[in-house]
Amino acid sequence: MNPSTALEACLTGLGRRPRLLVVDDQPSNIRLLHELFRTDCDVFMATSGEQAIELCLKQSPDLVVLDIVMNGMSGHEVCRRLKADSRTSEVPVIFVTGLASESDEAYGFEIGAVDFISKPINPVIVRARVRTHLALKLQGDILRSIALRDGLTGVGNRRKFDEEMRAAWWHCKRDQVPLSLIMLDVDFFKRFNDRYGHHAGDQCLISIAQQIKFGLSRPYDSIARYGGEEFACLLPDTGAEGAARVAVKLLGLVRELAIEHADSDASPVVSVSLGVATVVPVEGLDSMVLIEAADEQLYKSKNAGRARASSTVIG
Ligand code: GH3
Ligand code: MG
Ligand code: MG
Repeated sequence: MNPSTALEACLTGLGRRPRLLVVDDQPSNIRLLHELFRTDCDVFMATSGEQAIELCLKQSPDLVVLDIVMNGMSGHEVCRRLKADSRTSEVPVIFVTGLASESDEAYGFEIGAVDFISKPINPVIVRARVRTHLALKLQGDILRSIALRDGLTGVGNRRKFDEEMRAAWWHCKRDQVPLSLIMLDVDFFKRFNDRYGHHAGDQCLISIAQQIKFGLSRPYDSIARYGGEEFACLLPDTGAEGAARVAVKLLGLVRELAIEHADSDASPVVSVSLGVATVVPVEGLDSMVLIEAADEQLYKSKNAGRARASSTVIG
């Protein structure tokens, strides 16, 4: 597949325009690059290293085209700083340079650049290189999002949950704030499948996942499909009281779907059982304790008759 076709395919899959950041202290170069890419991309422009780093944090570009020799902070320094910050380290950088020696080029690769373009700028070459690297970056984004999503319900999968748990644990430990986990399991779901069929079972899981997603209101709250008919909601910076409120809301939202379940002993409509656990992460404590505690509460809910939530606080 040539770069143009690859890029078109990615853009269709991505559903948005790619974002390109052009960094050069010469306005004429910026104008030229802007002119070249403005029909394909949202182009952001920076005329200094500081501005480039700020724009990277704010706009999350898909690619940075970076001049090496600039007044003030050099392109090399900008690249080093972008690569050292986990928020920007994944952004590919192409250097644009009048420095043509092999050792300069080798150094650029060493500090994390993906390619070089030499000045004076040749529009055909620049366009081809930028399109190739944009296509690679966007393909990576698409693969990552597929790898982290559950194919049936569209919410995060177990791998995504593990990633989010790692990040949330780290943040809550650093800020010494509580992290809550809600484990949610559909009641008598085997009987539901047996009575209404597997397809209806799948549709039921899709509805429940969407409903939970709708019920989580904070931007850092997340939901993942943890197993077959089990979902996990991670609520960073949320204490026991807040988590219990969310759990009650989710119970209600699933009930409101009003999906008939004539073979359930718990309710005439599909219901869920929830286990809630809260912890302020500290050194030496593993996130597994939170999962085990939420699981234990889930089984408590099941044994107490299902269609309810049980909670615990660790520590
Ligand atoms: P409990 O109330 O104790 O949770 O009972 P249960 O029947 O829900 O639990 P059990 O673990 O015995 O059965 C879970 C069922 O969920 C069995 C399995 O067929 C069904 N299931 C798991 N994943 C899927 C899926 O992707 N689609 C459908 N339709 N069913 C699924
Ligand atoms: Mg179940
Ligand atoms: Mg289960």
